[in-house]
Amino acid sequence: MIANQIRGHQLILEMLDRSLSRSRLPHALLFVGDAGIGKKRVAQHLAQCLFCQQTPVDQLVCCNECNSCKQMAAGTHPDLISVECPPDKAVLPLSLIIGKDEQRGREGICYEMSLRPMLGDRRIAIIDDADKMNAESANALLKTLEEPSANYLMILIANELDAILPTIRSRCQSIRFGHLSDDDVAELLIEQQLVDFDDRATQVARLAEGSLSTARQLLDESLEELRVNITRQLIKKPFQPQVFAQSVIQAIDDIGGETATQRKTAKWIIKFCADFYHQAIQYAANYDLESHSEQIRQFVAGFSDEAEERIEKIGNLLDRMILTEEQISQNATITLCIESLSEDLRKIQKS
Ligand SMILES: [Zn+2]
Repeated sequence: MIANQIRGHQLILEMLDRSLSRSRLPHALLFVGDAGIGKKRVAQHLAQCLFCQQTPVDQLVCCNECNSCKQMAAGTHPDLISVECPPDKAVLPLSLIIGKDEQRGREGICYEMSLRPMLGDRRIAIIDDADKMNAESANALLKTLEEPSANYLMILIANELDAILPTIRSRCQSIRFGHLSDDDVAELLIEQQLVDFDDRATQVARLAEGSLSTARQLLDESLEELRVNITRQLIKKPFQPQVFAQSVIQAIDDIGGETATQRKTAKWIIKFCADFYHQAIQYAANYDLESHSEQIRQFVAGFSDEAEERIEKIGNLLDRMILTEEQISQNATITLCIESLSEDLRKIQKS
């Protein structure tokens, strides 16, 4: 893996590089930040740079050509131990930390980290989903963390810092990761061939809130279909509040699932609407005229000719949408939220 494949996080890379050059890299790091922003990628890059046989160990660089680098690329490096929570489990299994019942103490991260390096001069563990460890796992891991040795590095990765036991936290150096920029997400979508066109990548990235995994969710066909349908309702002239409310509520019902899933769908719908209005404002303000869709043009054309007035109206629509997003996040009843939203959207457009 080469550093230019890592998007964003430049300051973190520089900080790691400085720690290496001063030989001050702690024996345990805790990478914290939202899902899908590249924490694991940085952890793997750090490991590869430390393992690389061709580059100095006091710099965050790797050659991508030596035996170690090739094994890292293939995921077969014998000194890297990587664990994560299986997708069907809510808790990181204890067996990954200290081995299965019959193999207790003879496998798992703690055992692996007590072994001598096989290829290079250290062993490195990457524990993804560290915030999904229960107290038993955390306490088992603590023992290993309490006996730091020069030839090991542990990198814990977590979305939520609060979910990590304070005893673990205090033994790791925490590094907080920020979101990716929209451009980084768009470029990653193209690079990883998840999206074919720049326009689509930009559109998805805008909604992804700096997270590649959120962007991936957005590529789901049913969500995209939903976005298209909802946009169709938004541009109707005159706006029809009942039809809008019904189709939103129906869409949430269709996607189904538990209340939490329905709330998530509702949030997506509101996000789609807010994004639509946001683009409409930009277009109405004569900003970036080329990149807007025919639907946006049509929608804006339906307002007064007076630029200031139409920007104000669309701004009010956007504000109303943001208020709904807040209400839904605060667990308000979805149906009521949507119904009152629809009526207000009508009033704003008619005023
Ligand atoms: Zn190398």
